[in-house]
Amino acid sequence: MKKLTIRDVDLQGKTLIMRVDFNVPIDKETGRVGDDTRIKAALPTIEHAVKNGAKVILLSHLGRPKGNVDPKYSLKPVAERLNEISGLNVEFLPEVVGDNVVRAVQNMKPSEVILLENTRFHPGETKNDPELAQAWAGLADIHVNDAFGTAHRAHASNVGIANFIPSVAGFLMEKEIEFLGKVTYEPDHPYVVVLGGVKVSDKIGVITHLLEKADKILIGGAMMFTFLKAKGYQVGSSLVEEDKIELAKSILNKASEKKVDFILPVDTVIAQKIESGVEKKVVEIEDGIPEGWMGLDIGPKTVELFSEALRSAKTVVWNGPMGVFEIDDFSQGTKSVAEAIANLSATTVIGGGDSAAAVSKFGLKSSYSHVSTGGGASLEFLEGKELPGIRSIADKKKTRRMILAGNWKMHKTPREAKFFANTLLAMPIKGFKVIVCPSFTALTEVAEVLRGSQISVGAQNVHYERAGAYTGETSVEMLKQIGVEYVIVGHSERRHIFGEDDEMIAKKVRAVLDAQMRPILCVGETKEEREKGITFCVVESQLRQALFGVTRDEASKVIVAYEPVWAIGTGVVATPEQAQEVHEFIRDVISEIYDEEVSRSMSILYGGSIKPSNFLKLIVQPDIDGGLVGGASLNEQFLELGKIMCQVCE
Ligand code: 13P
Repeated sequence: MKKLTIRDVDLQGKTLIMRVDFNVPIDKETGRVGDDTRIKAALPTIEHAVKNGAKVILLSHLGRPKGNVDPKYSLKPVAERLNEISGLNVEFLPEVVGDNVVRAVQNMKPSEVILLENTRFHPGETKNDPELAQAWAGLADIHVNDAFGTAHRAHASNVGIANFIPSVAGFLMEKEIEFLGKVTYEPDHPYVVVLGGVKVSDKIGVITHLLEKADKILIGGAMMFTFLKAKGYQVGSSLVEEDKIELAKSILNKASEKKVDFILPVDTVIAQKIESGVEKKVVEIEDGIPEGWMGLDIGPKTVELFSEALRSAKTVVWNGPMGVFEIDDFSQGTKSVAEAIANLSATTVIGGGDSAAAVSKFGLKSSYSHVSTGGGASLEFLEGKELPGIRSIADKKKTRRMILAGNWKMHKTPREAKFFANTLLAMPIKGFKVIVCPSFTALTEVAEVLRGSQISVGAQNVHYERAGAYTGETSVEMLKQIGVEYVIVGHSERRHIFGEDDEMIAKKVRAVLDAQMRPILCVGETKEEREKGITFCVVESQLRQALFGVTRDEASKVIVAYEPVWAIGTGVVATPEQAQEVHEFIRDVISEIYDEEVSRSMSILYGGSIKPSNFLKLIVQPDIDGGLVGGASLNEQFLELGKIMCQVCE
């Protein structure tokens, strides 16, 4: 999967804020949880976090209290059920945010679990209020999203919060994405889609998308009558969406164009009322349904037809019941189709909502590859839409080269540098590049220690002339000969303390590229420039001038480091949004100077007060491809940063 999951991150001692879907029915009389399927479904992720020593804060909504505190939607009964069915000791805190919540979280010990009150008691939840999202994010290190059922909604607890701390998928979310992704984008064939439910209009998106993929589409449920009427059959008093008849016709045409076998029922169970125990009959569709009677289930011949169509399937998706399955008299069609699918040795995926309820009722749930926990969310997924609650989960970084670079500045004597370089040999490196940039006097020794290792050596500066009377300077050839591959150019300390200007920086970039080495080009605004609102202007001008005359091919050797001057050595780190915003902008500028491809493949590092505690949330941002680290590259913190890189890189 290309999303980060809870498996990828180090949980020990971390505080997790976990969005689960505890939107369960509460029995009006007893006030207890009715169906606890969703609670059980979230347990593996919670237990994994607890076992690995994390503190866990659980968030969920229940019902639609519309931003008001309404005791009938309290999560208290959920906490009780959670404690009954798990070996956990979950504390329920009857508040959503605020000082009491902060205090309770501060007092948590590893492996403890707190469930906060219904997120929708706060009006900011459904409005995706950034203040609320930030307040929740402030409680934790990592956000775990295991609430697939709300993935089609952009709310503060699942989407907004990911702007402040990294969001990773829980096990349930991972399974949903894996199975629904497979059937939506790369199904094995023959691929049979079974659709039911009341309205064609609810399923139009799914039908349109799956017409491109499926070999057969079987239609049951009340929506069949809109199709049957479109084909000219008598449907009596059956439910028909009159205004969707034309649409049904066009779907039928499209199916025949695409050579998709679009199979409609050949018989139906009819009655005069939707009630248990009323008179019912089976009629053939060919013969028509008499007035006053309505179809409430598919008939036995249709069950046979559908079972036959399913027999050779390698992939099956089923969404929507075949009839009024809640009433036993009209449940046989749904039950038989459920059984036919359950007996297949195919990938079988059941959409959430009614179909999930039906297979539960028939006790068949464990016979399918996957039963989705999301109704609306699974439908939108099957329509091929990108769900906001999935988009906000951090991607695994594999598209661009990720880099962890250390700028040792004027620190470490050659002896100290050599010693530390030896320590770095133990660094676990998986799927990313490590570069260290010692001072000139230590370069030779460090390069020797690291020769043949996965760690490369860079210099902190260079002169742009090849040789000459430049007292105190170093040339590219001198660096190259000792094995230096990278050179930091345009660092803000060189710009501001040593007066390097854009013209000189451009000459250095040219010299480095001419020597077949790679420049790490630093850009970034001062505090005053940021306050004046000219950050983009400054960064764009620095980029354009430094890259003037650099060809497209040469540009692919350039690494850019965004180092806001106000964040360097100050302990004030840019927020992930501030950094991401500028990184995205840098990518746009590179795209304008060259093209999309160069821009998309260029590694852009962030630098400025990076520490193990803030690194993860920076590097999960889509346009941040690693770090150029000062202070934290001088000691064992750099090894910690390496471990964090391992978590996000493949
Ligand atoms: P700090 O990480 O010490 O803020 O330094 C950043 C830097 O300047 C790296 O080049």
